[in-house]
Amino acid sequence: MARLQCRSCGFDNEIEWDGRLVCPSCGSTNARVAAATTELSDELFERIIKGLEEAGILDPNEDDDAGEGDKREDG
Ligand SMILES: [Zn+2]
Repeated sequence: MARLQCRSCGFDNEIEWDGRLVCPSCGSTNARVAAATTELSDELFERIIKGLEEAGILDPNEDDDAGEGDKREDG
């Protein structure tokens, strides 16, 4: 199960998700997963990541941009 939000029709509900970002209400692909509520298998997870990369949502060459001077004092 995963929570899917659709920007086209406003659908916002939990669905049985198999990795495709398709709105079960209107069929739009303009939807996103708000939260995965199930344990994802490695294969499914890779499919999701790949899909996100192909959609340009996730940058495959993610820069690890550490903030400058981000120091924390530990009590
Ligand atoms: Zn929809």
